[in-house]
Amino acid sequence: MRNLYVDYGTGDDAVTALRDVDLTLHRGEVLGLAGESGSGKSTLAYAVTRLLSPPGVITGGDVVYHQRDGDDLDILSLTPQQLRAFRWQELSIVFQGAMNSLNPVHTVHSQLTDVLQAHRPEMSKADRTARAEELLKLVGIATDRLGSFPHQLSGGMRQRVMIAMALALEPEIVIMDEPTTALDVVMQRQILRQLVRLREELGFSVIFITHDISLLVEFSDRIAIMYGGRIVEEAGAADIYRDSQHPYSDGLLHSFPALHGPRRELTGIPGSPPHLAAMPSGCAFHPRCPKAFDPCAAKVPVLAAPGGQGDRAVACWLHHTP
Ligand code: ADP
Ligand code: MG
Repeated sequence: MRNLYVDYGTGDDAVTALRDVDLTLHRGEVLGLAGESGSGKSTLAYAVTRLLSPPGVITGGDVVYHQRDGDDLDILSLTPQQLRAFRWQELSIVFQGAMNSLNPVHTVHSQLTDVLQAHRPEMSKADRTARAEELLKLVGIATDRLGSFPHQLSGGMRQRVMIAMALALEPEIVIMDEPTTALDVVMQRQILRQLVRLREELGFSVIFITHDISLLVEFSDRIAIMYGGRIVEEAGAADIYRDSQHPYSDGLLHSFPALHGPRRELTGIPGSPPHLAAMPSGCAFHPRCPKAFDPCAAKVPVLAAPGGQGDRAVACWLHHTP
């Protein structure tokens, strides 16, 4: 994603939900995206998959998909027909609360084979059933559950069925938008561990979105932190955990208890996220920032590598010359 902008509404009523977002998902990596509710995480997921619905509009930037054959695909200019092929086959998405989007009156078998039937019409009925069994096994569910209806499964199982569905056509990219938020912490970790194992087996890339950064520290390769529609820090997961550079990342890290590693005091972040229609000047975080100083209210900090560290980026005047 390059310089991506998204507005909700047009004309005088428009508010900007994504501002100048630059983010690269590398092949085979798990990229975690964290930020408080309202920071623009879902908007980003919808924008890059072209699923944004009105009043959402992409007002600037590029989304480019580098295909395995070397060709680049400009996602923002795909025709509806090209988009249909791109989604599910190349990229699939598991939405927030997806486990409730299974159809209550159809069995797991019919919902899994429907996806295959729609995109792989050449498959025989027996092949589709075999593939459905394989997919269930992949996410750790016994194949005798194929005949079950969604209400006969636990929340964790339903969520795993959604993940199986997302993997049905072996996509290159899987985007998960708070896929486990409705589940308990133990179940969240179990599903995530499975996902990371599958990634190693099948080689897809993941964008994993959550407001709970402690999960990301454990399971992702890199983490990007969003605030007020911008990426404010991006670095390797271990670097963020050990040495976060943006005061907001710091605040997030001290808002959730980590299940592993040394204990940290939980302090949370004072105040609440900004309203899109009244975004603070300069760095949007400055009114809540314990380290704010003169330039913060005046100038928007650029997202750039802090002194000498090329593999990470931070948008904060503590690390750049105003
Ligand atoms: P997150 O997923 O990080 O919680 P969202 O992407 O859902 O954040 O929302 C980002 C911002 O965009 C929020 O301030 C939200 O109020 C606003 N927003 C989201 N959807 C709409 C919409 N359909 N119309 C107007 N504003 C919206
Ligand atoms: Mg969201």
